[in-house]
Amino acid sequence: MKLVKIEECFGNKGCPNSLGDTKYLVEKLNEIIEEEKLEDFIKEKCGEKVLLHNTFRIGISNCPNACSQVHIKDFGLIQRGKLNFDKNSCVLCRECVKVCLERALKIENNELNINYEKCIGCGSCIKVCESNALSFIKKGFKIVAGGKLGRHPMLALEVKDFVENKDTIIEIFKKIIKFYKENNLHGERLGSIIQRVGINEFFNKLKGG
Ligand code: SF4
Ligand code: SF4
Ligand code: SF4
Repeated sequence: MKLVKIEECFGNKGCPNSLGDTKYLVEKLNEIIEEEKLEDFIKEKCGEKVLLHNTFRIGISNCPNACSQVHIKDFGLIQRGKLNFDKNSCVLCRECVKVCLERALKIENNELNINYEKCIGCGSCIKVCESNALSFIKKGFKIVAGGKLGRHPMLALEVKDFVENKDTIIEIFKKIIKFYKENNLHGERLGSIIQRVGINEFFNKLKGG
């Protein structure tokens, strides 16, 4: 049984919703897993009996649809974009408004308004805008951690809403692994550790070194 698993969505295999390739991140995460000897660590903590619920699970989704179930993984990455709107190119056709499932777009007073609080950066509106008034100014990843099912299920906590720099993502992953190792008693999931030591303590540790 593989004790550390990376589950990718179909984004790198041609899904039309993909916002970009994530192969670099998969490679880097695998490198860290090797460097940290994460499989050996789990074996040591569990002794003879390593069960499925002792595995460390990572999910990577190339768009906010999050098909790789990132919200129930120990560590998850969800690719998303930040919208840019060129008011002068907009012909007020409403096509973007019709496709936005988040209701983040509205036409008011002859102008398209974007509610950035609601926008999850999926890019559906960009695809239907024939005037090229919408685009992504940048792309990045939401980082989540600590998701799990089991007796005390927990959806992954949002660690960062948007990180553009891939090296920063790797640094955050390393900090999460450090926390996981330092606080692990017997091979439990990251979410169980967070439930035991407290969410504040988890975030304090991530802020520190
Ligand atoms: S998460 Fe997005 S890119 Fe990945 S398979 Fe699902 S819809 Fe496609
Ligand atoms: S990027 Fe997605 S969520 Fe944001 S406004 Fe466009 S369609 Fe809506
Ligand atoms: S689809 Fe493009 S042109 Fe039409 S309302 Fe939206 S931003 Fe404007």
